[in-house]
Amino acid sequence: MDPLDRLRGPVPPRPHDARAIAALAANPGCARRAVLDAAGIDKDATATHLGFPAPFGQSPFAITRGNVFESLVKESGCAELLRLLRELLGLPVEQAAYADLGDVGGNPSAHVRHSHTRGLLDRAARDRDDAGTLFDHPLLRLEIAGQSAYLEPDVVAFQLGGRFHIVEIKSFAVVDGQAEPDKVAAAARQAAVYVLALRNMMEDLGHDPGRVSHDVVLVCPENFANRPTATLVDVRRQLAVLRRQLARMTRVGTIVDALPPGLTFDLARDADGVPARPVEELREAVRGVEARYAPDCLSTCDLCFFCRDEAAAGESTDLLGRQVRDALGGVATVSEALGLADGTLIPGEGQEEIARLLRLADRIYAEVS
Ligand code: SF4
Repeated sequence: MDPLDRLRGPVPPRPHDARAIAALAANPGCARRAVLDAAGIDKDATATHLGFPAPFGQSPFAITRGNVFESLVKESGCAELLRLLRELLGLPVEQAAYADLGDVGGNPSAHVRHSHTRGLLDRAARDRDDAGTLFDHPLLRLEIAGQSAYLEPDVVAFQLGGRFHIVEIKSFAVVDGQAEPDKVAAAARQAAVYVLALRNMMEDLGHDPGRVSHDVVLVCPENFANRPTATLVDVRRQLAVLRRQLARMTRVGTIVDALPPGLTFDLARDADGVPARPVEELREAVRGVEARYAPDCLSTCDLCFFCRDEAAAGESTDLLGRQVRDALGGVATVSEALGLADGTLIPGEGQEEIARLLRLADRIYAEVS
């Protein structure tokens, strides 16, 4: 039996969506997440069974607001979007054709829609005509650790010069030219997934993948009104992290090989639809794979409350955020850091430099407080 199937137990693998794939890039160093995702394990159900349900899920109000905003941007064949591309971003799109790929002659099947998207984008890429085309609801595909994930960006704008841009429509506000950095970062990670999927498709079709721009168009409402505004966001950094993380997932076998034999995250349900696995057993199984908690997990991973609790119980320096953790490299717990700072703990091999810095910080802190 495939080791990843054994880890998942007798339940089907959970499909990946763009949001989940984007989140992979948020914490590339976490073996726990890499293993659970590679095996297609339902992290939400795992967290719920462990008693630490995920804090995600949009309110119905936010969903309605998002849908209304998206319809406004796309109304009349994306007329508003075209205005933004032309006026705000200076793209020389005189006029654009509009193609809705939401279904194919009434057939909404993912396979058929994906083939249709491939055909139309192939034709657009071959067409040397400079006219732009907006592709709405295209269906892209990305291979994640041997599984196909179908992905649907908000729009793909094909415009002059034969370059494709991903357009991401989000309903968080841009106020005085600024949006919440966390939300922009999450949107950039998600858009990078689409860029990668579209580049792979282009390569597959024999076109230069570089024709898919790393500048994505982010469309948001401006100043709490529903008037859209657009910005170009460079997602090269997110693409690099995503590629590394996906490659790591295909090599996840080396992490899996090092796990205890017989380890499983089996969440098979009993006749009442409740996972039959005793919670304590599942907790030990999850703890058997090393985690790398960081506060950003709270907005990107279903297991965040479980891992935060675990890190807090072990006084892990991970709780202090990635920057502090990296600066404290090799000092695993807060009490160890405090001991090195006040001199009650003798630095181990390789800890001399960080111990010197911690003692210095402790002295400065004592002088100014
Ligand atoms: S919440 Fe836990 S499993 Fe998820 S990325 Fe963070 S440390 Fe890894």
